[in-house]
Amino acid sequence: MNREAMLESKFDLESVLKQVRKSAPHVDASSEFPSENLQALRSSGLCGLMVPESYGGPGGSVSDLAMVAEKLGAACLSTALIWGMHCQQVDLVVHYGSEALKRDVLPRVANGEVYIASVTTEAKTGASLMSADAALGHEGDRLSFQRASPVVTGGAQADGFLMTLRAGAEASAKDVRMVYADRDEVTVAPQGGWNSLGMRGTASAGLSLEGSVDPSRILAPGREFREIAMENVIPTGHITWASIWLGAARGAFRALIAWMRRPRKGGGPDVTSDHLRWQLARVRTELAVVDALLRDAVEEYETARREGVERMCSVPNRIRLNTLKLVASERTFAAVDQMIEIGGMGIGYNEDSAVPLARAFRDLRSASLTQSNNRLWSDTGSLVLLDRQVEL
Ligand SMILES: Cc1cc2nc3c(=O)[nH]c(=O)nc-3n(C[C@H](O)[C@H](O)[C@H](O)COP(=O)(O)OP(=O)(O)OC[C@H]3O[C@@H](n4cnc5c(N)ncnc54)[C@H](O)[C@@H]3O)c2cc1C
Repeated sequence: MNREAMLESKFDLESVLKQVRKSAPHVDASSEFPSENLQALRSSGLCGLMVPESYGGPGGSVSDLAMVAEKLGAACLSTALIWGMHCQQVDLVVHYGSEALKRDVLPRVANGEVYIASVTTEAKTGASLMSADAALGHEGDRLSFQRASPVVTGGAQADGFLMTLRAGAEASAKDVRMVYADRDEVTVAPQGGWNSLGMRGTASAGLSLEGSVDPSRILAPGREFREIAMENVIPTGHITWASIWLGAARGAFRALIAWMRRPRKGGGPDVTSDHLRWQLARVRTELAVVDALLRDAVEEYETARREGVERMCSVPNRIRLNTLKLVASERTFAAVDQMIEIGGMGIGYNEDSAVPLARAFRDLRSASLTQSNNRLWSDTGSLVLLDRQVEL
């Protein structure tokens, strides 16, 4: 049995996907957080995918993460993002958490008891991952904080939060710490709502968190956050996002092709037309390019995890991971746009179409905004100037 088949059977993935697929139109239309889907992911063990065996999990790899993320993305992109971002937070705790934090949190994650939300965006610093405004303070032996974020996926439902904070009141904005807090260690106050164009089920409304934690809740306090970001936050983030976006576009394309191959009942695109075949080939090429970049990034990152994760800090690897995010976010959206052109008004543009292209289009519109592509293009351009050999 290959790894994919093994994981499918271990987590009964097909029944989870069936439920997620079925609920997707309602999740989108109602903009309700998909609590039942999260429950299915918890019960199946998939919420604990990245937890090592020594803490009660299956010890999933980066390629396992990418594989499941892509399948979930094809079923419901909102649910896929909720799960994918949780897995990113878990992976950070696995690799940078203190032993006390790992012992406390990871077995509960493996049991499906703890779903972790990500709190990195901040009103003042925006999508700038490497800086923070709200600062850690001291409250006796504990570290205190007041942290607000305008966008937190599943914040109202989360059992724990992983947040970026400035190291102290006197620290610079670049002196960032990553801190974990259980829900019962914080007071959570909602801020604003979530009525978005797409990704409507992610319930990514703002919130503020106030509380205090034991210092063992800080991830790798002796390390620079910049390094943690390059070694883990960015690679796992970009790989997970690219996987779910590719899954969504690929799922939409499968549905479109199935619809086009059905016996024609009049109307719709002419499958014998050369122009249509040209359009189909273009879409397929967009997806193949993203798939190739994704596989390359997964392979490089898995090698780095085996041989020394610091190699992810090299300029060519930073460009590689940024390129994946930039290309995946833009080309999967472009592919679905092209599919709508192929499907026309009835199949493409119609929200009630049998092929859910409109939902995929609205959902994927968020991809370039997630960790702002504008910012990422310019950061990547700066790195390009440093890579004199143009190492591809
Ligand atoms: C569906 C979804 C879910 C999300 N979930 C979470 C979550 O769970 N937790 C979380 O913390 N965040 C989350 N985010 C936030 C996300 O990761 C980004 O931080 C956020 O979308 C950035 O907001 P912004 O577009 O206003 O960018 P900002 O960084 O605030 O920038 C504002 C504007 O300035 C431009 N800009 C900024 N810097 C530059 C630059 N250097 N060069 C050129 N232009 C620049 C940007 O393009 C943008 O137009 C989520 C976002 C989405 C879409």
